[in-house]
Amino acid sequence: MAESRFAKPKSIGNKFIRIKCRDCGNEQVTYTKISSVVVCHICNATLARPTGGTLDLAADIVGDQQ
Ligand SMILES: [Zn+2]
Repeated sequence: MAESRFAKPKSIGNKFIRIKCRDCGNEQVTYTKISSVVVCHICNATLARPTGGTLDLAADIVGDQQ
């Protein structure tokens, strides 16, 4: 399985972040520790997956969500 689109963000801590779907440009909020896969609300692309620690991201981080 080629899963190279996923990458673990570095030194991100535990917080809410805004991520942007690379397929459709939709932005949505997720937490950096998740227990289930995060999918894009618009196009259903997989944006993040749980790893037991910091999530694996297949989306771009736009910023923090306060
Ligand atoms: Zn999308």
